[in-house]
Amino acid sequence: MSINHIRPWRNIERRKSRQIMVGNVPVGGDAPIAVQTMTNTDSGDVKATLGQVLAAAEAGADIVRISVPDQAATAALREITRESPVPIVTDIHFHYKRAIEAAEAGAACLRINPGNIGDQKRVQEVIKAARDHGCSIRIGVNAGSLEKHLLEKYGEPCPDAMVESGLEHIKILQDNDFHDFKISVKASDVFMSAAAYQMLADATDAPIHLGITEAGGFVSGTIKSAIGLGQLLWMGIGDTLRVSLSADPVEEVKVGFEILKSLGLRHRGVNIISCPSCARQGFDVIKTVETLEERLAHIHTPMSLSIIGCVVNGPGEALMTDVGFTGGGAGAGMVYLAGKQSHKLSNEAMVDHIVEQVEKKAADIEAQMEAEKAAAEIAAS
Ligand code: SF4
Repeated sequence: MSINHIRPWRNIERRKSRQIMVGNVPVGGDAPIAVQTMTNTDSGDVKATLGQVLAAAEAGADIVRISVPDQAATAALREITRESPVPIVTDIHFHYKRAIEAAEAGAACLRINPGNIGDQKRVQEVIKAARDHGCSIRIGVNAGSLEKHLLEKYGEPCPDAMVESGLEHIKILQDNDFHDFKISVKASDVFMSAAAYQMLADATDAPIHLGITEAGGFVSGTIKSAIGLGQLLWMGIGDTLRVSLSADPVEEVKVGFEILKSLGLRHRGVNIISCPSCARQGFDVIKTVETLEERLAHIHTPMSLSIIGCVVNGPGEALMTDVGFTGGGAGAGMVYLAGKQSHKLSNEAMVDHIVEQVEKKAADIEAQMEAEKAAAEIAAS
């Protein structure tokens, strides 16, 4: 992220981590924080699973995880990885053979805890398969499935036990000279997760995958994740994340991006700034914003739009957005372009006109980015 000298209170200094590759997506170092989700279909059902992968990718997911509990799932994986536009992480718990099959079937990353696989020979076989097929590994510590010896040592799941578990798994990979790994220490308890992640961030330079596990339904899970992941990201911790919701994976991706957008860590699509509306509104703000969210979902270019009910806050917000509309009187309002008052517009024509203006602005931004990229390439050659 670039340093903001004018508004230093917006700066987030990211923890320095090693960079690994998950397929063609860099994770860690100065790479953008990658957004992940996970399918919840029967992994053996190629059509349904691939459908979710494609929908998640369209919503912006950089990486998608699929659990492969049986051979039918690893068999289906080959077709899924071939068709998927994003790298696939496979979720494996104890069956080392599934890990080997997944690596052979094109998985970009194996989520597996080496300490749970069994003897050293099996660990070596999995690591060899990962190495041979260019897979990275995610160690995924979960407060709900900590090793027995750690539960005996600490009495109950706690941040120290989670980090110790993670470091034990790391040691197994390092002892086998395997370093392309990232790690997560998830708990459903926000306090426990946050404390564990903070300790982990000091204990390793591996890229960190953030998540609050079993966070809940859409509303409660979103809030828990925003609080837990939000404060960690604000501290500079986290190289990739998944928001776990009992909801459609597309919703997880949207919430993940919104958390990153709120902290200025990543930008994608139109950031709509809108007021909650009140008796002063010059048009129906809530309905308009709902419609605009739908009509503008296809725009991936990072830009901002303010939709404000009246002049109390409208002109001020419009100053800081690419496109703006502020409600006025007599069924009409004011359109702002690049922070400047532009022209009056009737409420009826507003949605179509704003969509047009946003599409135009997005095309201008894209053209400018292309030109800057081309100029940078010429300068570098
Ligand atoms: S901007 Fe105007 S309409 Fe919107 S909440 Fe504030 S006073 Fe009400």
